[in-house]
Amino acid sequence: MKKVLVLEDEANIRSFIVINLRRAGYDVIEAASGEEALEKLAAEPGTGVALLDIMLPGIDGFEVCRRIRASNSRIGIIMLTARSQEMDKVTGLMTGADDYVTKPFSPAELTARVDALFRRAGGGQEEEAGVIVREPFTLNTRNRTLEKNGQRIKLTQVEYSIIKYFMENPGRALSREEILDTVWGKDYFGELKIVDVNIRRLRLKIEDNVQSPVYLTTVWGYGYKWGL
Ligand code: CA
Repeated sequence: MKKVLVLEDEANIRSFIVINLRRAGYDVIEAASGEEALEKLAAEPGTGVALLDIMLPGIDGFEVCRRIRASNSRIGIIMLTARSQEMDKVTGLMTGADDYVTKPFSPAELTARVDALFRRAGGGQEEEAGVIVREPFTLNTRNRTLEKNGQRIKLTQVEYSIIKYFMENPGRALSREEILDTVWGKDYFGELKIVDVNIRRLRLKIEDNVQSPVYLTTVWGYGYKWGL
């Protein structure tokens, strides 16, 4: 069964999430603190998606996210944010989260987000194995890895899907809507801003100078493009 970790310190919110995910067919692991979440994830390496609350006693959700990402780029991570935490969404994505959900959320919205991350995480199967080379980058679609000048660059699953889309369409301006549809799926509920935040994070990993990107370039008022 597909495994989801739910980290939330408020017991009633946690059980609301857990009940709905179980109803949707997921195997759910619960944690009430960041420390407990990290322990349980270490014991359950097959966990596909983690939902992380931000405000917690002990280490906060951003720190949990950072520590998970230090050793696991494959797991999908969704931050649970409060409506007043606009900046936190961005911070969460910069620490390696794939998505965020704003409280209060409906069960349908939450399971749709989790489903979307599982689809993406498992997206490797139907892909033909191969290699895309766009100097100085080599993308290996069999093991979903990226190298720049032969040096491995660690990517999250979302970052991998984004860069694959660009490397398959060099020189073509891709709109933010197209990127959202391709990477997150057509039935995704989220906002376009998530595209910008992920591109920003990708640039930190692949560009020589983030101030003047030459690989992932901006097409003003439209979207982004691979190359100048
Ligand atoms: Ca909390």
